[in-house]
Amino acid sequence: MLGNRWAEWFNPRWGWPFVGSERLALGEERDLNYRMLGAIAGDIIGSVFEHNPVKSIHWFPLFMFGRRFTDDTVLTVAVADCLLSGKDYERRFEDYYYQHPNAGYGAGFHEWARAHKHEPYNSWGNGSAMRVSPVGWAFDNLKDVLAEAKRSADVTHNHPEGIKGAQAVALAIFLARTGTTKEEIREYITGSFGYNLGRTLDEIRPKYSFDVSCQGSVPEALISFFESTDYESAVRNAISLGGDADTMACISGAVAEAFYNGVPSEIADKTFEILDPQLAEVVRQFRSKYVCARW
Ligand SMILES: [Mg+2]
Repeated sequence: MLGNRWAEWFNPRWGWPFVGSERLALGEERDLNYRMLGAIAGDIIGSVFEHNPVKSIHWFPLFMFGRRFTDDTVLTVAVADCLLSGKDYERRFEDYYYQHPNAGYGAGFHEWARAHKHEPYNSWGNGSAMRVSPVGWAFDNLKDVLAEAKRSADVTHNHPEGIKGAQAVALAIFLARTGTTKEEIREYITGSFGYNLGRTLDEIRPKYSFDVSCQGSVPEALISFFESTDYESAVRNAISLGGDADTMACISGAVAEAFYNGVPSEIADKTFEILDPQLAEVVRQFRSKYVCARW
């Protein structure tokens, strides 16, 4: 866990804490500087473990040597940019790909981004789910959240499982940030998408391995959030399954941030240190338009 808990909890600008194991009660102060980083921090923290799996939540420090932001972050910011600018997903995904060509994209996305004409490639990969989190913040009703999640997936991940993965994550974030309980979120996602969310991490972990499909990683990332007690434990839970660690921590972290009202300040500050300045500026603009305006 983080070293100095007092320093982390006490924020001199706002008084007592916005971070902790419980959600804030309505009306309590929130620090908006620590929003819209849940997916990005999860990606960075998990990046070291994508190809070096661990099966424990305890032994590793956050922000290990070698950590970096990856394709999960780049395309999450690209989605935020589209929602801000109104530009189409195809064009912005291509632009961001060429700005960060070595961020760790899958082979299918590399090919798509470099193609002269962008045709969706019927992917069921978790790329649609890892990049969708801004959609869960930008819309105020379920119908719009689901429709936009589908639009963001459709340009590449137009397989039904690719669309379902994006919609499930966006919906979980929308429900989490609007005061829904974990049990209600679990029931809603299970009822809407048919994922098996009744398993525990202890049941999943022994046999789980790297799986880039939506259907083989989104439910497990959501369970990592359901078993969390705060943002950090949601990310640790996801990495501890020993799978596609950066993407699963990105998804679990995005939902956890929405549920626990932000990421801890120490994690937020470190994330901004690592993030490319241009990407960080889009995050700030998105937060200003879609997050700060609401609270
Ligand atoms: Mg990645």
